[in-house]
Amino acid sequence: MNNLKVVLITGGGRGIGAATSKLFASKGYAVCINYKSNRASAEAVASDIRAAGNRCITVQADVSVENDVVMLFKKIDAELGPLSVLVNNAGILRKQSRLVDLTAERINTILANNVTSYFLCCREAIKRMSTRHGGNGGVIVNVSSGASRSGSPNEYIDYAASKGAIDTLTKGLSLEVACEGIRVNCVRPGLINTQMHADGGEPERVERLKELIPLKRGGEPEEVAEAIYWLSSAKSSFSTGNFLDLCGGL
Ligand code: NAP
Repeated sequence: MNNLKVVLITGGGRGIGAATSKLFASKGYAVCINYKSNRASAEAVASDIRAAGNRCITVQADVSVENDVVMLFKKIDAELGPLSVLVNNAGILRKQSRLVDLTAERINTILANNVTSYFLCCREAIKRMSTRHGGNGGVIVNVSSGASRSGSPNEYIDYAASKGAIDTLTKGLSLEVACEGIRVNCVRPGLINTQMHADGGEPERVERLKELIPLKRGGEPEEVAEAIYWLSSAKSSFSTGNFLDLCGGL
């Protein structure tokens, strides 16, 4: 069991996370799929992975809640062994809105789910990976968004700002742990075909905006998964504190 490379994918049960879970499993990783509420979807991905002969566990945990994150990492320690890769992917979006209509409750919910969660998972991963703490090193990949640069005016500045925080987290943390055997990188997807846009109130958003994309189409979750995998692999061994934009040229 301990010879296996182990990856945690937060929000690994659907969308970009599900594609990433499947890709890592196909490369021989033992996979922990974390989910918040959509158990059926997480279990469906896990059973596909197990049917292909690979090791996978699912763990329900709200990664914006500190005790849940601590429990999540303890389960991985106990059931899969030392963590090699953390993919911070879980995220939420709320209905499109101008800033003038935002409430403190909404802003704080976005920040807790999209920012505090990434910090907490990084903390627990570093405790296990860092050579300073007796670990063997590892890799963290944060999923940010092209929104961190566009600012998402008239739609969700709160979400865009949460992703700006992830860019800053990536830069600062990559420098903080560079001498501890840990690389920290980031992908910034653009418009990707997942259910997230329905949560933003417009399921057909990618279709509406695709003409603005130089490649004239939305991206697929599998295309983001490939970038995450590359940044996790030894092929990107000289890359840390870097950003890979996956926006079809937008
Ligand atoms: P999605 O289909 O809506 O999936 C989001 C996932 O995050 C779900 O598995 C959800 O779990 C999980 N999640 C949300 N809050 C959580 C929490 N507090 N604890 C644990 N899990 C939680 O979204 P997606 O499009 O694949 O997005 C994945 C990442 O890519 C996000 O960080 C998003 O911001 C980013 N992104 C997406 C796009 C895009 O166009 N789709 C573009 C740029 C960046 P449950 O299903 O159990 O609720």
